[in-house]
Amino acid sequence: MKKILQDHSFGELSELVAAAGEKPFRAKQLFEGLMQGKALSAIPVSPALKERLLEEYEDEPVKIYKTFVSEDGTKKYLFLLADGNIVEGVLMKYKYGNTQCVSTQVGCRMGCKFCASTLGGRVRDLTAGEILGQILTVNRAEGGNLKERAVTNVVLMGSGEPFDNYDNVVKFLRLVTAEGGIRISARNISLSTCGLVPEMRRFAKEGIPLNLTVSLHAVTDEERQRTMPIAKKYKIAEILDACAYYFEKTGRRYIFEYSLIAGENSDEAHALALAALLKGKPCHVNLIRLNEVEERELKATSEKDAYRFLGVLEKQGISATLRRSMGSDIAGACGQLRAKFIR
Ligand code: SAH
Repeated sequence: MKKILQDHSFGELSELVAAAGEKPFRAKQLFEGLMQGKALSAIPVSPALKERLLEEYEDEPVKIYKTFVSEDGTKKYLFLLADGNIVEGVLMKYKYGNTQCVSTQVGCRMGCKFCASTLGGRVRDLTAGEILGQILTVNRAEGGNLKERAVTNVVLMGSGEPFDNYDNVVKFLRLVTAEGGIRISARNISLSTCGLVPEMRRFAKEGIPLNLTVSLHAVTDEERQRTMPIAKKYKIAEILDACAYYFEKTGRRYIFEYSLIAGENSDEAHALALAALLKGKPCHVNLIRLNEVEERELKATSEKDAYRFLGVLEKQGISATLRRSMGSDIAGACGQLRAKFIR
């Protein structure tokens, strides 16, 4: 596989261009073209520079391979990477803007029992430029540019565990927020983790005040271990401590994802226990009814029970929302589309 130009910051590109004996304005041209989501061959730099770069670098490291459009306007993408791997992403349209969900790894090795992304394990990590490339190509395909962006918000909730690919993800975050690029502010970015405690603590010190989201899905360590193998390594108490530390360092409240699974984590007793666990903490709970995955046994909680669960949390003074599932007619849940495609 050739190298990926989108992995580089503007400063790094400038060095590259200088080393090729080209004038500094070429670096700006190159950077702007890349951030506009163009293929290297379509960027108007000098033919000599282009030829030289194309020998070493991928022309288009992330291509939109297929687009699926849902009845509710949600779009799902399959991206083709240079080595033939496929990852998926979603663009959800809201009143305030468009949120793109990106993947951070091909597959995942966390093994959560309800998730389709982890079915075939982890194939490989994505580079920073491959994560960024998903956004740049979609922004371009949707008619956006660097001023009028079609992608305004980003969630790292596609395939992969972001903190299992820490360095590339942090580099991606610096690129996507950088001046002169697509400039999505950290406040408009959410990173979801299954709760890798050391990385959560490390990330608190990076100076990237994004919305930290933790997949909790259970109220006791024993129950969490049933659906999330990572719970054997890190206790809920350690996760809550790491969240408190994140708040201390960034001033940002944190979010818990709680997928409601019938007969597993969604009784009234669970709601009360969850409220007790989170009472007084600067956090928000996002409830979602499980997206049923073909290869998995687990079933979604009924809508009625989901609203009851929400009601208990609210009565206990916990800030919570029950999110509607978007794009379920086009396999919106994590890894479902890729799994289907590979099948
Ligand atoms: N690895 C990260 C991000 C991945 S997925 C993490 O674990 O947080 C984003 C969210 O979708 C996570 O909260 C994940 O637990 C949840 N999820 C995965 N499969 C799901 C399913 N079938 N139904 C509902 N939520 C699911």
